[in-house]
Amino acid sequence: MARFDGRVALVTGGASGIGKATASRLAAEGASVVVADVQDDAGAQVVADIEGSEGAAMFVHLDVTDESGWAAAVDAVLERFGRLDVLVNNAGIGDTEPLEVTTTATWDKVVAVTQTSVFLGMKAAAEALKASGNGSVVNISSMYGIVGSGVSPAYHAAKGAVRLLTKTTALGWAKEGVRVNSVHPGYIDTPILGDTDRDMLVGATPMGRLGQPEEIAAMIAFLASDEASFVTGAEMVVDGGYTA
Ligand code: NAD
Repeated sequence: MARFDGRVALVTGGASGIGKATASRLAAEGASVVVADVQDDAGAQVVADIEGSEGAAMFVHLDVTDESGWAAAVDAVLERFGRLDVLVNNAGIGDTEPLEVTTTATWDKVVAVTQTSVFLGMKAAAEALKASGNGSVVNISSMYGIVGSGVSPAYHAAKGAVRLLTKTTALGWAKEGVRVNSVHPGYIDTPILGDTDRDMLVGATPMGRLGQPEEIAAMIAFLASDEASFVTGAEMVVDGGYTA
């Protein structure tokens, strides 16, 4: 029996990078997976790849900043699969500039996509996760939700907020059968890194390499599984030693 047989997982930002690796991993371990993203073609491709490997999946177009979109997405999941057991709040965007030149528009956008989305997602999925009897939420923060870097004020503020939003929700739901944990990746080789100098990122990482999306997906799958049945409110760092 696979770890996620009979369970349904929704992964935001599932069309790319860490979300895509997570959707594939959960499906490979038996979950029916909902890929939720604003990238329709890429999301549909992830679903096609999972189905091609005999997994069950569906794509939902979801802008994670849209509260009514969240309600529609959860409805669509319940209509198709009848339940929701795992929510992975993974979608995120970053800013790269110093505070003095960061615009209010950039701040608002990064906070909406990276922080408010986690609040909206947990709120929309709360009833279904409690009904699961085995609900689990994994919120993707960052090592930059724990330590600063000197730039990217909105990203750090949002990722730090996700860390404590996770802990307070974990306590609120601890007796309701829903575990809530956060994952804090270091530098992972995905499109979000853009044209950032990879050699510089490798040099700053004690293990001397970038992480792979599959290495984050492995931690997410652990937290979402029964192997982590007594783990809630935890912050799991997967950063090649960066914050050690
Ligand atoms: P990525 O750019 O490959 O994937 C992000 C996904 O989020 C994309 O598919 C994108 O379409 C989706 N997305 C963006 N805005 C959205 C919106 N409004 N609604 C729905 N989907 C939206 O990047 P990634 O590295 O896979 O990032 C995944 C998460 O991991 C993010 O929260 C990111 O902050 C976090 N993270 C990444 C790294 C890293 O080095 N790659 C490090 C720490 C944390």
